[in-house]
Amino acid sequence: MKDDNCIFCKIAAGEIPSKTLYEDEQFRVILDLGPATRGHALILPRNHYGNIYELPEETAGDAMKLAKRMAGLMTDKLHCDGFNILQNNGEIAGQTVFHFHMHLIPRYKDDGQVISGKSGSASSEELEEIKNIIIG
Ligand code: 5GP
Ligand code: ZN
Repeated sequence: MKDDNCIFCKIAAGEIPSKTLYEDEQFRVILDLGPATRGHALILPRNHYGNIYELPEETAGDAMKLAKRMAGLMTDKLHCDGFNILQNNGEIAGQTVFHFHMHLIPRYKDDGQVISGKSGSASSEELEEIKNIIIG
């Protein structure tokens, strides 16, 4: 499953060179060209899935297992102080390349990076209403 117009399909297939940290039959892990921090990497499935909604559950599970392994390896080697694992779906959520990928972002004291969104507030009634919309 490949999309001829997708740059991440070409990178995952090795048709466009990348700084590859790991590869297997299903995935390639590359360094991000515009790193948020030192060592920022991306997990790319070789198959083209546009986003989390298109991703098969089994591939999602395998991607998270790989993320865990990479986080351990990268933390050992880079001596980072923390780690963000991010995944964007849709333009409004910050997705710019429409081939599913997971961001592996090592964090360092004083790296100056701001990744988390600001907290809001909700009443117990509002939370109950949302809960019922989602699972009711
Ligand atoms: P998104 O915003 O879709 O979640 O993340 C896309 C990421 O891909 C960005 O962090 C961006 O820097 C990275 N990126 C975009 N084009 C390329 C490329 O050609 N090669 C590499 N290695 N990273 C890329
Ligand atoms: Zn693709």
